[in-house]
Amino acid sequence: MSVINSFKTRTNNSEDTFELAKSLGAKCRGGELFLLVSDLGGGKTTFTKGLLSGLGSDAVVSSPTFTVNNVYDCPNGIYVHHFDFYRLNEGGVVAQELAEVLDDPKSIVVVEWGDIVSEVLPESKIEVRFDRSKEGEDVRQIDIKTSTNFSYLLEGLK
Ligand code: ADP
Ligand code: MG
Repeated sequence: MSVINSFKTRTNNSEDTFELAKSLGAKCRGGELFLLVSDLGGGKTTFTKGLLSGLGSDAVVSSPTFTVNNVYDCPNGIYVHHFDFYRLNEGGVVAQELAEVLDDPKSIVVVEWGDIVSEVLPESKIEVRFDRSKEGEDVRQIDIKTSTNFSYLLEGLK
């Protein structure tokens, strides 16, 4: 990533993670790309649920692990494309779909397990890392880094 703006915090439970993501979702304008990085059960899908809530969607968000790509229609004509590459050995046709939606300013793209499509992903993105903590089973250290064009998302975070 080029110039970076970052924000670090911790959440003590899944509701905290949901609320953090919700506050980010409320600031999204369309065109954002979120790359979510953690181990299994780290909180990536929980974060995605919060993001959609912040965008005003009342969709029931499920993990796209088996479908690879779910699309959610939000108010204001925005679409959230939620990709999960966990079960794929190569990006293939899904990587092509991903590349197409990345060019759409009305779409917000959320990617879980994006390693195999890293060459498709632009520098311009929001990378969110979730790390477990020795402090407790439900504690996550969350590290958000954005390229400068997306730094508006970090304004006012506490
Ligand atoms: P991933 O998509 O990274 O595999 P999920 O969001 O599907 O992770 O699952 C996270 C699991 O961990 C959920 O069961 C959630 O309730 C639990 N959890 C516990 N603490 C947290 C936290 N601080 N943030 C997010 N999820 C948490
Ligand atoms: Mg998940």
